[in-house]
Amino acid sequence: MLPFQTLEGAEVFLGRNLTFAETLWFKYSARKPDYILYCHNTLFLFIFYTLVPLPFVVIELMRSKKIDQFKIQPKIKNSLSDMFDCYRKVMLTFVLVVGPLQIFSYPVIEMIGIRTSLPLPSGWEMFWQIVVYFLVEDYANYWLHRLLHNGWGYQKIHRVHHEYTAPIGFAAPYAHWAEIIVLGFASFLGPLIVPGHMITFWLWFILRQMEAIETHSGYECPWSPSKFIPFYGGAIYHDYHHYVGGNCQSNFASVFTYCDYIYGTNKGYRYQKEVLEKTREKSKQK
Ligand SMILES: [Zn+2]
Ligand SMILES: [Zn+2]
Repeated sequence: MLPFQTLEGAEVFLGRNLTFAETLWFKYSARKPDYILYCHNTLFLFIFYTLVPLPFVVIELMRSKKIDQFKIQPKIKNSLSDMFDCYRKVMLTFVLVVGPLQIFSYPVIEMIGIRTSLPLPSGWEMFWQIVVYFLVEDYANYWLHRLLHNGWGYQKIHRVHHEYTAPIGFAAPYAHWAEIIVLGFASFLGPLIVPGHMITFWLWFILRQMEAIETHSGYECPWSPSKFIPFYGGAIYHDYHHYVGGNCQSNFASVFTYCDYIYGTNKGYRYQKEVLEKTREKSKQK
């Protein structure tokens, strides 16, 4: 909740006129407790994991030779009921695990000092903080994911996420509840180290969700803006990890490619990439 009751009070507090975005934020958030603003993140989780995979569902249902050019594993076809079943299971995990986890983690957010007040962060501040969040999460996720590929971790936990050897958008968060908690911790690390504004916090989770959905979409989108991100892994990169499955010792990183490069866990992928591309080309020609 903001420490001033009126727009005039906010302007006196800041010593200047409010920007358009700040006026909107004031009108929206002034009378809402910080806890309610934080809970928006859970709502966004449901909305974005429902809506963002939908174009990929439509594409999958309209499969043709043209569309198959972009399908990473073109031999695999998913029916509407297959995809809906995945969505249903993911939503159940969200209701039972992710929602309560987010809601009960509020004291941590309070402790970190995620602010909801004015002034709003500048575009640059948000940009650099989100870059840091992505880098921190990617590094932590690399090691946690690699750890989950040991015998016990894989059999008891990570095996669930690997049920999809050819992932689909809805399968991005399809995982054992323990994996969601462990990897969710990695997503909180960035804001913990560099706390920012609640809007930056929301945006971070939304972008991370969109990235995970694209990476698991099963399609290589040549028009994706993520193509311009340096060292970005993308859909083919992570699809390979699912394609190989439990024995995969390659492509552990969630977003970027540099961790796998530095720690030498991209050798299998580099070798197989060429083979896979040739196989894909052949199946496209059939
Ligand atoms: Zn894995
Ligand atoms: Zn995955």
